[in-house]
Amino acid sequence: MRGISNSSGKDGRNRCSKTEVQKFNNSGSLKKGSLRVVGIGPGGSEHITKRAISAIDKAEVIVGYTTYIELLEEGLKKGKEVISTGMMKEIERCKIAIEKAKQGKSTAIVSGGDPGIYGMAGLILELLSLEDLIDKINLEIIPGVPALCAASALLGAPIMHDFVSISLSDLMTPWELIKKRIILALEGDFVIVLYNPSSKKRKRKLKEAIELIREKREDKVPVGIVKDATREGEEIIITDIRSIDPEVVDMRTILIIGNSTTKIHDGFMITPRGYEDKYESFEKFKALRKKL
Ligand code: SAH
Repeated sequence: MRGISNSSGKDGRNRCSKTEVQKFNNSGSLKKGSLRVVGIGPGGSEHITKRAISAIDKAEVIVGYTTYIELLEEGLKKGKEVISTGMMKEIERCKIAIEKAKQGKSTAIVSGGDPGIYGMAGLILELLSLEDLIDKINLEIIPGVPALCAASALLGAPIMHDFVSISLSDLMTPWELIKKRIILALEGDFVIVLYNPSSKKRKRKLKEAIELIREKREDKVPVGIVKDATREGEEIIITDIRSIDPEVVDMRTILIIGNSTTKIHDGFMITPRGYEDKYESFEKFKALRKKL
């Protein structure tokens, strides 16, 4: 049974049956605190949703990775208990947030982009399930604009067709499996989004991934590189697989590798959806363009 969120009852989003809702309400005495896993988007303050702002606003305690806490506007943090921890401290962060919610506090744990994409939602659910706490805490997962969408919009329309997202971090996934996923994505001619492409300690992995891609895709396949999308210092590079400079890529960067049909036009990356082959009007449009 799943009992969640303050909003679920109000707006009809509760997925429990009537009897289940009843059971959930009866066990309500256990549910004092709340835990909201909040996606804050890629960083720019105009890219955070109203729902995320409202969740942070309601919170008595805000927990998060230092960088994400810093990205939040000061007004949102004022008068709150703010707990920030460094990189690689995800488990600690989640445990603190769960503990605060268990103590009855209205708690928000913030996660960059969307919390369900290499974010905090999974770990929170795993930890809650280990303690058998999922239905004893008011839990809400609030989506955010993922970096892949922010980057895609800045580049043009590179993920207009089927794509896969692969994280190059081998911290918890064996490198052999990551390589296998890249190879299979190449075989399927998917557009490939590379998350966590590089860090000071694992620059070699990106080079290996590029070599793998070059074996299967043409040298001129377009690649979009976006660093700090929507944040201060934002950088957008559109290049091809042969010309990538791995030195410009760091852990605040995301890469989008085109498929066999992706092209670059006037500084935009476009992966055609197939309209051109299917619709006659495209032909007329092309003919008109030629005349101009
Ligand atoms: N939950 C996030 C992903 C977190 S994993 C999401 O939904 O997008 C962290 C990785 O995301 C970084 O290493 C980087 O590859 C990417 N990333 C996150 N924010 C970014 C941004 N503003 N610009 C470019 N890449 C970003």
